[in-house]
Amino acid sequence: MSTEQLLDRLYEEESLEAQEIIAVLRNPDQNLKKRLHHLAHLKRMERYGDRVFLRGLIEFSNICKQNCLYCGIRSGNKTVRRYRLQPEQILECCREGYELGYRTFVLQSGEDDWYTTEKLAGLITRIKTLYPDTAVTLSIGERDDETYAALLAAGADRYLLRHETASRKLYEALHPTMTFDSRRNRLKALKSLGYQVGAGFMVGLPGQTPGDLAEDLLYLKALEPDMIGIGPFLPHQATPLKDEPAGTVINTLDMIALARLFVPNALIPATTAMGTAHPNGRELALQAGANVVMPNLSPLNVRAQYTLYNNKICLGDESAQCRFCLEQRIEAAGFHVDMGRGDSLNYLSRTSAQHVPL
Ligand code: SAH
Repeated sequence: MSTEQLLDRLYEEESLEAQEIIAVLRNPDQNLKKRLHHLAHLKRMERYGDRVFLRGLIEFSNICKQNCLYCGIRSGNKTVRRYRLQPEQILECCREGYELGYRTFVLQSGEDDWYTTEKLAGLITRIKTLYPDTAVTLSIGERDDETYAALLAAGADRYLLRHETASRKLYEALHPTMTFDSRRNRLKALKSLGYQVGAGFMVGLPGQTPGDLAEDLLYLKALEPDMIGIGPFLPHQATPLKDEPAGTVINTLDMIALARLFVPNALIPATTAMGTAHPNGRELALQAGANVVMPNLSPLNVRAQYTLYNNKICLGDESAQCRFCLEQRIEAAGFHVDMGRGDSLNYLSRTSAQHVPL
């Protein structure tokens, strides 16, 4: 079967074997890649239409007990100025975000144990009481079952926990303080508790092979998450990977398109890392199957301290500026902003909530 025919089969059957994925990834033909992106765009249009959901991202603490080799806020980086927003400050970001029209707040941080289960549950309860028509997404790393259950009970809706890489060997080399099995087990726990779950991975990690990327897709296919975050690996100057080459925009676009075709009902963000790697990286991602953008709502005075990688964009833009800059970019790329909660299709059918037909 030609690689072109493989793509058609992928569009129909929503899966391929590992060897077939590798054949697609290794194929240097630019027209084939264009076709891949186009098929992903068609699949996205079929499932979600031309809408792009916006999420207000609040990076509330860069304090982290883990020591991931790639990450700029790893505990071993003694050069980063650490900060932690207090619950009142986070609520102020939500207030501003709500006024700008956001109906999803993504609370992201390092693994910061000052934020106990009780503090987090209290914060989530307050957000959901003040803004009952919003969704709260957590992205705070690994916690135990009881904590995940308590935060869900407090009103959290979604949880982002990228699997980072489906290669056990690579995962273990990059995460000296964490284990591959625990990461997978946490994702399973989040899913069975009833969160809308986000997994995902980085593209172009040092030592990562096409076979590893094929495993990422097969893992996503088996997990069937509600959300999939994919971005290029970008080096950070104060980490052990500072001299490694960055992942490429092209390879990341291919993986976004493949993720759309493997898990068609997923919400897939055009990530900040894509926007950092290329001036139009997020627009290109939207045209290759992505359908979410996460503008920054963090206070300006802490933005620069939440640097996971070098040259992160939008460090100086007011939240309102981010909101309108992105709206313009999204419209110019041929899509429409949707300020609704933007739940995943699988979640809507699981809960048989009202789904507005396209
Ligand atoms: N502590 C939380 C949030 C992590 S930061 C957690 O464990 O889930 C969010 C994501 O940024 C990570 O999951 C990782 O995939 C990505 N990231 C971190 N450092 C990066 C780098 N140097 N280049 C690209 N992406 C990076």
